[in-house]
Amino acid sequence: MDQIKELAALLNASKDTLALTGAGVSTESGIPDFRSPGTGLWSQLDPMELFSRAALDRDPQLFWQRGQAIFREMASAEPNPSHHALAAMEAGGVIRGIVTQNIDSLHQRAGSQTVLEVHGHLRTARCPECGGQVELLALLAGIAAAKTAGRCGCGGFYRPEVVLFGDQLPQSFTVAWQWSRVCDLLLVVGSSLEVAPVCWLAAHAKQLAIINLGPTPYDDLAKIRIRGKAGAVLTEVLAAVNESSSA
Ligand code: NAD
Repeated sequence: MDQIKELAALLNASKDTLALTGAGVSTESGIPDFRSPGTGLWSQLDPMELFSRAALDRDPQLFWQRGQAIFREMASAEPNPSHHALAAMEAGGVIRGIVTQNIDSLHQRAGSQTVLEVHGHLRTARCPECGGQVELLALLAGIAAAKTAGRCGCGGFYRPEVVLFGDQLPQSFTVAWQWSRVCDLLLVVGSSLEVAPVCWLAAHAKQLAIINLGPTPYDDLAKIRIRGKAGAVLTEVLAAVNESSSA
């Protein structure tokens, strides 16, 4: 049996499947990931410096000036076949939902309903002083026009509602942790599984399947490991799932 059919059979046999996605599901939407050789953000800049709590606290103006182009790119991208296939899998009861490390909201924009965003999102920014919230794209337009940091009316500096290096993970991570422990199958798509603690979800899953272009440290634990582009692979897997369940 080929790997696509094998994964479709595993998905059909599983009563409770959770997907875990990373930056690799969004590269086909034009958003660079962190670690792909040559194209990943890591080869152009140091995300740990750029997207850290320390960088924001030290110099909010520099944080926003450096981050605005990347934030705008992520917040304006369109979903691709990976996002659509995962949304269709949820609608068809093939997966329970998605745990995502992505901050681009593309799963929701493709129609996914149950999305645990364990690294936050770029829909809004919040002022830590007064709790005021603004739409991120509107804030970015103001920053570009005035060439200043995103300042709230109360005098505080807005921060994007993403988990920066140095931040605690949100409550959604606790839910993801519990769900991944009890699910029958964890389907990882487009993640290097290098970022802790999210990668630990792969370690305690009962069964693991991985679709990724590059290697991950959890490949040996996976029942099925497909090396390929997420958009094409997921589209084929969805077709195989539908075909075998209607046969
Ligand atoms: P990563 O960059 O560490 O790994 C991405 C993986 O995806 C790589 O192993 C790569 O081989 C694979 N990949 C790239 N394109 C692919 C494709 N078309 N099909 C299948 N696989 C593909 O990303 P990560 O594991 O998600 O961890 C990086 C962190 O960066 C995350 O915490 C995330 O929050 C953040 N991030 C998010 C975005 C986004 O929201 N789109 C983008 C960049 C980084």
